[in-house]
This record gives sequence, C-alpha cells and structure tokens, in this order.
Amino acid sequence: MAPAPDSRLATYPFTSGATAYVRELDIPLPDLLGRHAYDRARSRGMKRVIQAIEGRIERDYEIGTDLELLSYPIARMIVSCVGDNYLIRRYALAEAKAVYESLKAEPLDFLLVMGEEFGMRIESSDQGLSIHFADYVRYAHRMRDPGWKLVNRRLSGGVVRISEREFRRLLQEAISDRIRGGLPLDLPPDLDVCDALSAHIESVRDALGARKTEFEIAGAADPDAFPPCIAHAIAMLQEGVNLPHSARFAATSFLLNIGMGADEIVRMFSGSPDFDESRTRYQVEHITGREYTAPGCDTMKTYGNCIGADSLCARVSHPLNYYRLRKRGAGGGGGIDRPDG
Ligand code: SF4
Repeated sequence: MAPAPDSRLATYPFTSGATAYVRELDIPLPDLLGRHAYDRARSRGMKRVIQAIEGRIERDYEIGTDLELLSYPIARMIVSCVGDNYLIRRYALAEAKAVYESLKAEPLDFLLVMGEEFGMRIESSDQGLSIHFADYVRYAHRMRDPGWKLVNRRLSGGVVRISEREFRRLLQEAISDRIRGGLPLDLPPDLDVCDALSAHIESVRDALGARKTEFEIAGAADPDAFPPCIAHAIAMLQEGVNLPHSARFAATSFLLNIGMGADEIVRMFSGSPDFDESRTRYQVEHITGREYTAPGCDTMKTYGNCIGADSLCARVSHPLNYYRLRKRGAGGGGGIDRPDG
C-alpha cells in the first residue's frame, strides 16, 4: 500500500515523483476505466479537458489527492482518443498555465527541484539566479516580449541571470513541452480505452466543436470588414512604421484567427520599401504555432491600440466580433458572444 500522497503530487502530476506514486498504487487499467471507485477520477479527467478547452483548469482537491492525481492520466487518455492537434495544444497549454499559477506560491527551493526535474542547469547565489544559456534559450526563444531575447540579456560565463518570476515562466514552458510531448498516447492495443471512456469523450468533442465554431469565420478574409484598429495597424505596418509589439501581435493574431495563413499575412504586411521579410516571417510564424486568440477591445484600449472606433464598435467587445458582424452585413442585430481568449 502506498503512503498517503503529498497534495503536491496532484498539483504537479507530470513529475517523476507523481508517476512513481501512481505506479505504486498499482491500479489495473481496466479498473481505472471501469470500476465505480474511480468514477470521480474519470469525470474529473473529462472536466479537466473541458476546462482546458474553455481556457482555464481549476484544481479540485475536494475529490481527494489520489483521484485528482488519477484524473491526469485519464485526461491524457481522453485527449489521445479525441486525437485533435488543436485540442492537444490547448490542453497542454492550459495544464502548464495552471501549474504556473501554483508555482507562484512555491518557495525557491521547490522551484530549483522542479528545474532539476527538467534538466535545467540553474544556480542560486547571493547575486540571484543564473541559468546555463542553452537551457535559457531552449525555452526563452518562444517568448513574445523582446526582453527575453538573448541579445537583451547579460550573458557572462555561459550563464544568464534571471529573476524568480522568469524562472517560473521558463518552467511553464518546460512543463508544457513535457505534457504535449507524450500526446497522443500510445494506448494499449488489447484494451479498448476509447470505448470505455466514450461518454466522456463525447462530452469533450461537444465542447471542442462549440469552441471551434465560436472562432470559425467562414469564407476568405475580407479586408473591408476589418475593424478600425486592425485596419489601422495593418496600414501602419504597410507604411513601414515600427509599431509597438502589442499592436503587431494584435494584427497578426487577428488575421490568424480569421483563418489567414502565415504566407498570406507576411504578404499583407509587405507593403513598405524597407519590409524585412525574414523578420516578419519569424514573428508571424512564432505566433502561428501558439494558438493565441486576438486581444479583446479592453486590452486593445489598455495598450492604446483601439484606434478609429466607429459606431459598430459600440456593440462589440472584441475585434473578431466586429469582423463577424461586418461580414454578416454590418448593421445586423442579435447578440454578440465574447471570445474568451
Ligand atoms: S472598439 Fe474594439 S473593435 Fe473597435 S477599434 Fe477599438 S478595439 Fe477595435
């Protein structure tokens, strides 16, 4: 019989310690998939995936550490059975974000142990934290903020100084990789796992379908329907104006969300004489791989990117909804759903 688990195992179910603990529990897979004792773990696994689709996984310690922990492999089985790449990315990202929230409350010693779990060469001294540059670059190269670029950091003796907050962020990336790396799982061929979880899988498919429909905008991109903020950002980019990162990100993620491909977007940004294709392509492709949702109007306003708002803007809270309405014929009525990003 395994000892009572540390609730941290349920918070960090992807670690080698959590895996070893589950192995010690020695629960046969058919039992986990079918026995009444694990009903709540299966429901929780499904809920975990649906919460990921909705954008935020909440911990549920009420069901007990063991069941919460077991819901993690079940969630991974469900994701694998659905077999959708978008779901895999979204699920891994949501798990990693939930972990990041938990890491905020952890002491530095624990973070260092977590760093070891991912093979990060990191040291803590009176001067702060320093990480081997190769481990830094492995995760930092994906960050949007230019402050993460190696050229903007002090590199000395092969290490980069980082803050505790940055360390947590690097850990989030490492965790996301681990969660995503093993998916879809190679499920045992002799057991019909997907059949055993079929009711849960159906609910996940419904949630996934609803999410995709919410963001799907049919037909070719229609620049005449772009909201003023996005039209302005694109016009500035085409004139070679060096826009703030937040505005470039808003324009790129918006165009991706309405279904444009990276090549089309690079072409759209290519109006200016000093257009730097490789730099633009790098930025666009970086955003393309991450399933971002374009920022809503509140965020656009906060960053000073809500420019040229017109009367239709008064009816929307998101540039994507402006676009939808305009495509439908602008003046049309009806409720407007807010993408939750
Ligand atoms: S209100 Fe929203 S859609 Fe309209 S310009 Fe501002 S950010 Fe864009």
